[in-house]
Amino acid sequence: MKDTLSKYITKMESLFKASPPILMILNYHSISNDGTIVDVLPEEFEKQIHFLKSNFDVISLEEAVGFVRGDFEIKRPSVVLTFDDGYDDLLDYAAPILANHNIPSAVFVLSDPDRVNRNELENDKKLLEKDQIKKLQKLGWTIGCHSATHPDFLRGVGTEKEIRDAKKTLEKELGCEIKYFAYPKGVYNDKVLKAVKLAGFSGAFTTHWASLSKQTDLFRIPRIGVDRTHTIAQFSAFFTNWARIYSNVKCYFKESIAK
Ligand SMILES: [Zn+2]
Repeated sequence: MKDTLSKYITKMESLFKASPPILMILNYHSISNDGTIVDVLPEEFEKQIHFLKSNFDVISLEEAVGFVRGDFEIKRPSVVLTFDDGYDDLLDYAAPILANHNIPSAVFVLSDPDRVNRNELENDKKLLEKDQIKKLQKLGWTIGCHSATHPDFLRGVGTEKEIRDAKKTLEKELGCEIKYFAYPKGVYNDKVLKAVKLAGFSGAFTTHWASLSKQTDLFRIPRIGVDRTHTIAQFSAFFTNWARIYSNVKCYFKESIAK
């Protein structure tokens, strides 16, 4: 009992250490004027990019994974930008803004967008066609997999089709290795996690609100969601020590309960 208590106290102390956030991955969906919850307004996005450029190194997804693996060093607090679902307005707003600022980015797309589960997506926004994904690829974007149709994995959906086959289809169509997976809505269980590993992915991304460290599980890499409701003041607060401490404690208890 005493042992458990001292272990608990040591863990709490490490969670409260006020060191700056080392590395955080942001999770966007769309930059547009469409007006759904997932659409961050282009002018707000510009403000966010200016804030990030003034305070962080904006690095690539590959570099972030390298940091967790221990083969890439980060000299300054850093952030990574990712987009889920693959909406076609990425080419209208996000891509030009990011190209202007020379910022790398990643998008997690569906391998079978024609059969997308709109109930799960909760919008009717147009998804990228294959030639549009190739355009992003040419611009240097990392392309990841976000399943075949955006299913609710907790409903016992066939993981083979949605994970293994989705990877193979995207690789065939885009002519490159698809190394990373993002769980639709950040939802996964042991079966899904196992299927992602078996399919040959090198890492997978959740929507747990936390920063990364060298102890981060490569198949449960946390990301911070940004949507239309966040003001620039709220956005900048994501990166404070207090937000990091709060999220780390929350994540710790969540994982303790899940174990
Ligand atoms: Zn999604």
